[in-house]
Amino acid sequence: VVASMAHLQEEKLRLQEELLALQEKLAARESEELAVSVQLQGQVENLKANLVDQAQEISRLRSELGGTDLEKHRDLLAAENERLRQEMKAREGELRELRRQQAPCRGCAHLQENAGLQERLSQLQQEAEEARAKLAELDLEVQQKTNRLAEVELRLKDSLAERAEEEERLSRRLRDSQETIASLKSQPPQIKYIIKTVEVESSKAKQALCESQSRNQYLQEQVGMQRQVLKEMEQQLQNSQKTAAQLRAQVQSELERAHGQMLEEMQAMEDEKNRAIEEAFSRAQVEMKAVHENLAGVRTNLLTLQPALRTLTHDYNSLKRQVRDFPLLLQETLRSARAEIGQAIEEVHSTNRELLRKYRRELQLRKKCHNELVRLKGNIRVFGRVRPITKEDGEGPEAANAVTFDADDDAVLHLLHKGKQVSFELDKVFPPQASQEEVFQEVQALVTSCIDGYNVCIFAYGQTGAGKTYTMEGTSANPGINQRALQLLFSEVHSKAADWDYAITVSVAEIYNEALRDLLGKEPQEKLEIKLCPDGSGQLYVPGLTEFRVQSVEDINKVFEFGHVNRATECTNLNEHSSRSHALLIVTIRGLDRSTGLRTTGKLNLVDLAGSERVGRSGAEGNRLREAQYINKSLSALGDVIYALRSRQGHVPFRNSKLTYLLQDSLSGDSKTLMMVQVSPAEKNTSETLCSLKFAERVRSVELGPISRKAELVSWPSQEQLEVTKVPMAPLLSSWTAASSSRGHASPSPGPPSSRATSIRRKLQTSG
Ligand code: ADP
Ligand code: MG
Repeated sequence: VVASMAHLQEEKLRLQEELLALQEKLAARESEELAVSVQLQGQVENLKANLVDQAQEISRLRSELGGTDLEKHRDLLAAENERLRQEMKAREGELRELRRQQAPCRGCAHLQENAGLQERLSQLQQEAEEARAKLAELDLEVQQKTNRLAEVELRLKDSLAERAEEEERLSRRLRDSQETIASLKSQPPQIKYIIKTVEVESSKAKQALCESQSRNQYLQEQVGMQRQVLKEMEQQLQNSQKTAAQLRAQVQSELERAHGQMLEEMQAMEDEKNRAIEEAFSRAQVEMKAVHENLAGVRTNLLTLQPALRTLTHDYNSLKRQVRDFPLLLQETLRSARAEIGQAIEEVHSTNRELLRKYRRELQLRKKCHNELVRLKGNIRVFGRVRPITKEDGEGPEAANAVTFDADDDAVLHLLHKGKQVSFELDKVFPPQASQEEVFQEVQALVTSCIDGYNVCIFAYGQTGAGKTYTMEGTSANPGINQRALQLLFSEVHSKAADWDYAITVSVAEIYNEALRDLLGKEPQEKLEIKLCPDGSGQLYVPGLTEFRVQSVEDINKVFEFGHVNRATECTNLNEHSSRSHALLIVTIRGLDRSTGLRTTGKLNLVDLAGSERVGRSGAEGNRLREAQYINKSLSALGDVIYALRSRQGHVPFRNSKLTYLLQDSLSGDSKTLMMVQVSPAEKNTSETLCSLKFAERVRSVELGPISRKAELVSWPSQEQLEVTKVPMAPLLSSWTAASSSRGHASPSPGPPSSRATSIRRKLQTSG
């Protein structure tokens, strides 16, 4: 028992030692764990500080990015720009453009840089996030391990408490057994029994010993188990320490790597930044240079402008002074001007009155003079017009030119006929090159006199093909007298419109075989009669003759066209027909003077006569002969009438033909007549040309005044007679064909009286 007790004691001591050791180990473990956790915490703190640093660095970088030198530079530039803008307002546009140029530089590269940096930042942040997550994982692991340690501690405490209990129990038994031993010692006589008891008791003790031994065994097992657990835990701790070290190393390397990367990136960014700054700086320098140059230009401009400005200011000031003084000056000037004007008006009034009086007197005088002139000149005038040689004249000697002119006298022409030159003097001769306009210029005075109430007849006389229709109608591109006369009438009427109302009407008629037909009527074939006015005025009129009122050139053209169409539908060959009939355009101008109520009526008769060639002699028959006879008769009648009129005979045989009867009003009294004698210059036409020219000269040369009375006794030769040489005409023509001889030309018959006509003509020419 003692031994076992000692053993137990020993055991107890050992256990106690063991416990102490365990406790020490536990404390060491605890302190170790604490150190590890402190270390970890420190690392975490470090990492956090690192993160904060990084964030600060990032924010610094960000702020750096926000406010780089470049921007400062830009600001400087903007300030400079602003200053420049103020300095040169006139160059604002240019500066705006510069600024516009600056804008893209500010925008592009730096923005890209910024974006790159931000990307980098987000990457770094992500990495930091990952490190943080790893840290959290490590924290969790540490937590788990401390939990497990706490569990182990608890279990240790439990086992210690159990052991303490066991010890208690054992010590109690020990005490009990010691007491029993002491009591046994005090009772030696009853040894046997005691031995037995002891034996019994020792068996009991043995059992207790056994029990305690098994208990001890169990406890030892337990301790072994605990040791095992402790070893495991140590192992685990070692493992966890290893992993912690690994993790630490990993974190360290990760951090280093991140730091290195960051440094690299920062370096790259720094480089990039420097480069960008350099670029921007060089750009800014260039721009600055340009701006400076501009500024210099503007300065020089300003310098050149300054003198101009000075003179302008000077001018402006003087103008201002003038403007200030102007109203006074103006008033004064106005006053004097008004007075002057009033005086002038008064003067003008009196002059006007005087002029009006004189004008009225002159007007009367003019009328008188005009009448006198007409009387002196004779109101019958004869012009000749020679057409150019045309293709129709053919070639060879037949088409040769037989007419020549006098360079000094436009009233004379020479005809080479059968080898002899014959000269004629008319009122005027138009050579082939004379234009329609030139011809009309000589005629227009006659036309305008219609407006004053005179009757006028213009005849185109000559053989077929000599240019009658060309002179009267002309071509559409080059119109003749008809259209020009009407145009002139329109413009004259227009210019007098202030005082006068005028109505212009036209009729177009034709006389064929002594039948008068209305070419504007509904039935052109109807023959019209010429009748005396029933009012007893002795005037003639044609009942049923259509009159169209015309107001413009378009109207006239329409009328002419209408007349042409009617004429054409009535015959099979218009050319032939027109050469055998007289075409008449009768224009009537009726005027009313609004102030006096005076009425005037003038008539303009434009007649394209039938061809004057002598058809009858060529043995024509039937219709052709009849036509020729009618033509011959009417042309002779016209000659008779003109002759009678010009020689102032008492009787004028108007009624001998329809033509003269119709034109009676326009041929008699103070009417005016123009005979345009058309001739062909071709050699083959010379005999007809001779006849026409003789007719012309005869008409023209009828003497005025008392001599003409004598002429009453002589009768007008017929057309037929005209062709027979000068002999039958000698008595008739003796008085007037001398005109040419007096000029030294070959003359059919000399005689003195016509020198008077020439002298009269000369006088008229000089007196104007
Ligand atoms: P008539 O009417 O006398 O028979 P035309 O007037 O028909 O003659 O003229 C005959 C031809 O001569 C026409 O082709 C015309 O154009 C031409 N002619 C007449 N006179 C002239 C002139 N002065 N200038 C140019 N051509 C003319
Ligand atoms: Mg004709």
